[in-house]
Amino acid sequence: MREVHQEVWENCLKIIKDNINYQSYKTWFSPIKPVKLQDNVLTIQVPSHFFYEWLEEHYIPLLKKTIKHELGPTGRLEYSIIMENAINDQGPYTINVPTSNRNSLSNPSVQMPIDINRGSAKEIPNPFVIPGLRKIQVHSQLNEAYSFENFIEGDCNRLARSAGYAVATNPGKTAFNPLFLYSANGLGKTHLAHAIGIQVKSNFPDKTVLYVTAEQFIQQFVQANINKNQNDFVHFYQMIDVLLIDDIQFLSTKEKTQDVFFHIFNHLHQNGNQLVITCDKPPVELKGMEPRLLSRFKWGLAADLQLPDLNTRIAILKKRLYKDGIEMPKDVIEYVAYSITTNVRELEGALTSLMAQSSLNKKAITIDLARQMIDKYVKNSLREVSIDYIQKVVCDFFNIQVDNLNSKTRKREIVQARQLAMFFSKKHTKSSLATIGMQCGNKDHATVLHACRTVSNLIETDKEFRVCAEEIEKKIKI
Ligand code: ADP
Ligand code: MG
Repeated sequence: MREVHQEVWENCLKIIKDNINYQSYKTWFSPIKPVKLQDNVLTIQVPSHFFYEWLEEHYIPLLKKTIKHELGPTGRLEYSIIMENAINDQGPYTINVPTSNRNSLSNPSVQMPIDINRGSAKEIPNPFVIPGLRKIQVHSQLNEAYSFENFIEGDCNRLARSAGYAVATNPGKTAFNPLFLYSANGLGKTHLAHAIGIQVKSNFPDKTVLYVTAEQFIQQFVQANINKNQNDFVHFYQMIDVLLIDDIQFLSTKEKTQDVFFHIFNHLHQNGNQLVITCDKPPVELKGMEPRLLSRFKWGLAADLQLPDLNTRIAILKKRLYKDGIEMPKDVIEYVAYSITTNVRELEGALTSLMAQSSLNKKAITIDLARQMIDKYVKNSLREVSIDYIQKVVCDFFNIQVDNLNSKTRKREIVQARQLAMFFSKKHTKSSLATIGMQCGNKDHATVLHACRTVSNLIETDKEFRVCAEEIEKKIKI
């Protein structure tokens, strides 16, 4: 028979599952076991101290809300942590700790925009005017972790980032109004939108900033229609100084919502207020959107975010580790960065799974563990080695900077590194000779062909060279 604590925890899990992505759920919540429910305190067993710290750091608002939802206002949560015993032959032991008070939910500044009441539009926090107050109170819904400081700049996002920064420094006063940010999933649109909001709040504390997803906007509008207070809804939005609206593609085919957004847009724009819009595609590809609204999206600047290159991916991982105070060997970071090329969200997810795996199995984070984990958990498809990774391996081998490959120098060691990079790119990627040439010092396809022949010859004839080439190849194929 199901015991109460199991049932309560199962209900909690259902809520949690709806509020976080599947990978995080599997990583952090699947291994948890409910232990008991006593005096309205639910005790859950976590596999290690690391787990406990991670949950406290990242999921406490969600856990608290969920517990309150299931157990009422007096409900509390306690961890039973399995600890490694320092004295060898004694087994692990557990300690019990209550959840911390940080991020207390009574503090509205850390309220999370989560819809705990799955699917019910009624309970969505509606940031409407609070009656009786002259100055409107708006909960900006900004996530402090998504700051500019935490946003790594690279070629992939330079324009979008600097336009965002300009907007945050001078909201409504630049040519970038609206600022339309677009990209595929997981490349930093939401992060950048928050960063702009956070920066505006810090530069201009009196400005009213609101981050809202297009989905929330739609639900609020539906609710306003039910409550017959559409005017309040429109007026509320017309009072915002900086409106950040995320994933505008959800407005497609929602004609009524588009209509009301059109009026809000016009009002804000005419009054010199800033709009930042994000979307999963450029304006020209947006289907189901009214032409008059589409044409307005093109008034300002449309900037896209691309997939970060290898070095930017490494920098993103390092930043994340630094923030979490975790150390990881350099080769592991590089391995993760070059294996995960889909998007930043998956990159971070892989890192998290790796830390969880290491903690769960009490194994050090090594390149072997990374390889197993990435093969097993993240990618079943074959990894494709990229030209930039090959360049990095070759340059690391000779202890030179990758930039040197692009220089005009005739220095033997650089010429040779470039030729090796071309040779291995031809061997291990599907890229054409022209592409390889372009990426390795802007050379033409004939130069690449010549490099491939030279390297082949040297491998045949020069033993020392062959040993170097084999070393490099081993590193490329890890
Ligand atoms: P999108 O909204 O485009 O789907 P997100 O903004 O949600 O993507 O980004 C996914 C994850 O990747 C977030 O955790 C975000 O912090 C992180 N991220 C994306 N780009 C960067 C970057 N340039 N620097 C640091 N973190 C990034
Ligand atoms: Mg997003």
